[in-house]
Amino acid sequence: MCEICNKKKQGTWLRRMKGGVEEGSGRCKKRGSSGLWIAMLFLAFLCGLPLPASAREMVIALDPGHGGGEQGAVCYGIQEKDVDLLMAKLVKVELEQYDGVRVVLTREKDERVGLEERARRACVAGADLLVSLHFNASVSGRSKGASVYISTAEETLPGLRVLADHLLGQFEALGLENAGAFARVTQLGGRRADGSFDDYYGVLRHSHNYGMPAVLVEHCFMDNEEDCVWLGSTKRLECLARADAAGIASCYGFARKDGRRVRALHARVFGATSRGVEMQYFKAPRLSGIRLLSYDGGTPGIAEYEVDVEDRVGIHSLWLVYRGSQGKTMTVSFSLQEPLVTGTHRVSVYVPAGVALDQYTLCFAGAYNTAGYDVAYNRSGDTFVGFGKCEWQNVFPYDGEADLAVEREAGIPEEYASMQQEKLRQELRKAWEKRSLRYRSFTPGKSR
Ligand SMILES: [Zn+2]
Repeated sequence: MCEICNKKKQGTWLRRMKGGVEEGSGRCKKRGSSGLWIAMLFLAFLCGLPLPASAREMVIALDPGHGGGEQGAVCYGIQEKDVDLLMAKLVKVELEQYDGVRVVLTREKDERVGLEERARRACVAGADLLVSLHFNASVSGRSKGASVYISTAEETLPGLRVLADHLLGQFEALGLENAGAFARVTQLGGRRADGSFDDYYGVLRHSHNYGMPAVLVEHCFMDNEEDCVWLGSTKRLECLARADAAGIASCYGFARKDGRRVRALHARVFGATSRGVEMQYFKAPRLSGIRLLSYDGGTPGIAEYEVDVEDRVGIHSLWLVYRGSQGKTMTVSFSLQEPLVTGTHRVSVYVPAGVALDQYTLCFAGAYNTAGYDVAYNRSGDTFVGFGKCEWQNVFPYDGEADLAVEREAGIPEEYASMQQEKLRQELRKAWEKRSLRYRSFTPGKSR
């Protein structure tokens, strides 16, 4: 077994997976270690960076988000899945300007690829790092900036923090707001073998299970007036792609083929949201109680809750995940007109049609405050088992009582999803008309 790459030396390879190992055939690319290579590995280890495959080549899997019937964010007729794919192609071109890098894509066309399949494809291609490429959207249209999500797995967290720092430094230099770097755990209670909670983002979770460090980049908000200019032309997207490549290259010390130096840029605001820095507020909100007071069961139904919160700047949205029989989950989101500050509040929310809320169990609750921080809790009985997402290292005050294992993940009901999508579409249309901005035409797939 090759200790560096987790592969058997003679012709077959082996990867650690959930519930066992996967075996395949092919040469172990990660053999060969000169003195220089050992020194580099040691240096990388000291800096907490993920170890590249070899001194000569690091394989990076770029993962364009969504695809096929899954469009991702849709703003003003532009579908995120198309922009993500175009971005991946542009980033590949940029990364190939560097020595020692091989780039693979988890999808090269408009197809729906499952989250595990993305990680599997990257793993089969021998990837040492997976970078999932996305664009964000918020219903309000007010959120803006670039954010980087990294896997919460302890082994890779320090190295990925460094990568997030390099990436956000590049985005800041472009003038994008730094919306923060986050490590976020699952809302479904799934655990790793060591007892820690799984990653929230499926592609990060599966990548970890396949033995690859992974990050997810949300470049900017497609529905934000300031951010959307980045989607207005292929030229602008190329700037973002150059930033992605430069961030990765400076983090891992790649040299440009043309001899030009790539400068490492570090995030000015790191581990905090820029909104938080502006407001001089660095705390995630807290939820200490949620009670369902009434629910009319109508179509759509209105549910009234009482919530206990602790937050000085105010919570602007809340979300609850309910689990029904057979592991089905349903999310109820609240957007609050008046931010909730410390105290007990009554809030009402629409619940999708035909949901027997009393037959669901509240298993997860989350809140965002106006400083851009959020908190989320797994819930067992009346106990919250929580973490603050804005913390680098999520802390679990877990005492062994909550068993939140779920058999399988289930999406939100189709009906509810399409209702939410329609709502989003309408809100965006309204927001767009109000702003009377003209969007430049954009043809996904037509690069360079
Ligand atoms: Zn996305």
